[in-house]
Amino acid sequence: MILKSILARLFQGYRTGTFPTKSGPKLPPDFKGRPVLAADMTEADLKVAAAACPCPGCLAIRNGKPSLDLGRCTFCGRCAAASPKITFTKDYRLAVFKREDLIVSSGDPEYVPPQNPNAAIPRLLKRSCQIREVSAAGCAACELDFNVLGTLAWDLGRFGLKVVASPRHADAVYVTGPVSRNMALALQKTYAAMSEPRFVIAAGACAISGGLYAGSPEVRNGTSDVVPEPDLFIPGCPPHPATALEGLLRFIGR
Ligand code: SF4
Ligand code: SF4
Repeated sequence: MILKSILARLFQGYRTGTFPTKSGPKLPPDFKGRPVLAADMTEADLKVAAAACPCPGCLAIRNGKPSLDLGRCTFCGRCAAASPKITFTKDYRLAVFKREDLIVSSGDPEYVPPQNPNAAIPRLLKRSCQIREVSAAGCAACELDFNVLGTLAWDLGRFGLKVVASPRHADAVYVTGPVSRNMALALQKTYAAMSEPRFVIAAGACAISGGLYAGSPEVRNGTSDVVPEPDLFIPGCPPHPATALEGLLRFIGR
């Protein structure tokens, strides 16, 4: 029996992927990463793209420029199909530390993922960050893609990141879903049970802004209305595991 197990292990080899790699993670062919809005995109172009967008307010004129809000975007790609002025790159490094950094505008300079502006977080959490997940009425896709990070293929634990069952053991709460009215109190209680210093991570369009459910009387439009402003925003619908992991590593300064 033991010999069988050893042979199986030898046959299977080491399955955990290296992360990060110079060439980046293996992404699905239809993966949509950070969008780019052409520098010559006009308000008329924006209207064409916005007419195809299922997310109210995602595409809008901000500071006089056509822009796209990654905090609302579902990455469905309909805008890019409707307008050649929008293209989706394969850049999966989407996480940011400030809500305003989720706005992509026409003519933006080349994107460089920001480092955590709160230097205390890497100092405190670089070697160990315990995370409590709260599914606040998510559709389960955000939750499943976060669970993937716990599998042997991604092995979250090798980076000092660990999902814990109790908020009392957690440094950060990882929120998914638009925060339904029914889940608002649970999220508040989870946050209240965490000891200081404690941090909030909003993962997915729903947790950041309410996503497709924004404006519904049944939801609280994401985390910011219920707990303090997130310390990390991970856009996507759902965020790819590589996007979440890359954002978490920048969050803890690794
Ligand atoms: S990819 Fe984002 S901006 Fe484009 S249509 Fe879909 S939700 Fe709207
Ligand atoms: S952001 Fe998208 S994938 Fe995540 S919970 Fe909302 S609808 Fe589901």
